[in-house]
Amino acid sequence: MTFIVELIDVWKSYNGIQALRGLNLEVRKGEIFGLIGPNGAGKTTTLKIIVGLLKMDRGLVKVNGVDIYEKPYEYKKLIGYVPESVSLPDYLTVEEFLIYSGKIRGVSTKHIRERIDHLTNLFELEDKRRSLIVSLSKGMRQKVAIASALIHDPDLLILDEPFIGIDPMGQHLLKELFSERVKDGKTVFISTHMLDTAERLCDRVAIIYKGQNVASGDLKILKQLSRTGENATLEEVFLKLIEEAEVKSTRDEMLKRGRL
Ligand code: ATP
Repeated sequence: MTFIVELIDVWKSYNGIQALRGLNLEVRKGEIFGLIGPNGAGKTTTLKIIVGLLKMDRGLVKVNGVDIYEKPYEYKKLIGYVPESVSLPDYLTVEEFLIYSGKIRGVSTKHIRERIDHLTNLFELEDKRRSLIVSLSKGMRQKVAIASALIHDPDLLILDEPFIGIDPMGQHLLKELFSERVKDGKTVFISTHMLDTAERLCDRVAIIYKGQNVASGDLKILKQLSRTGENATLEEVFLKLIEEAEVKSTRDEMLKRGRL
């Protein structure tokens, strides 16, 4: 089995707040993988560690089989990342920003032009190419951010809550884009709260709670693990597994404090 991303026993705290507690995660090449979990479960922290925006306290993260701390620069060429809250330079035009993104990813000038033509067409941003980013709507900015993450046609596209703020046509387009990419052997890794979308779109998901992987696999495996029955939805599976994780977490906490 070839994994594009592997997390082994990853720990991360922010000034005493324990965000990840020995997280293990495996994303396979050529799949759409979904990271789901309640608010504060550690999804954004996980994605930021993988893309190199945050340092973990301990553990091992491999991208394409290579420890990211051993080779901290090379692996970034493989990745396109779209954060949860997009922050783009308001003073650039869409085209200027995409040229800049292409240059820092090492794409040739000729190829950047081709990619911009393709991506602005795909995201219906052609008439905004020469508009300043400051003049764009929230959803358009999100599309520009995704276009920027795709400029070098990365093997691994990582998106934190990609559907938030995007209109239904845009969401449909994104889902098609993700499916097209995996057909080409590329990988899409998203975090999302939209469980019905995750159910239809993702090949496999991981459910995380309090910085730990509660369960991962395809829906069939998750139904078995949660004993929710053949007709259960991902939402039902999720609620059951999170409830069990909560009970276990409370019990562990009480045991630790000697109250059981
Ligand atoms: P959400 O679904 O609400 O976006 P999440 O699963 O992405 O949540 P994270 O943002 O990774 O969760 O947060 C995990 C934990 O780390 C939370 O307890 C959060 O309060 C804490 N945390 C995240 N970022 C910081 C920070 N910069 N400083 C302090 N604590 C943080």
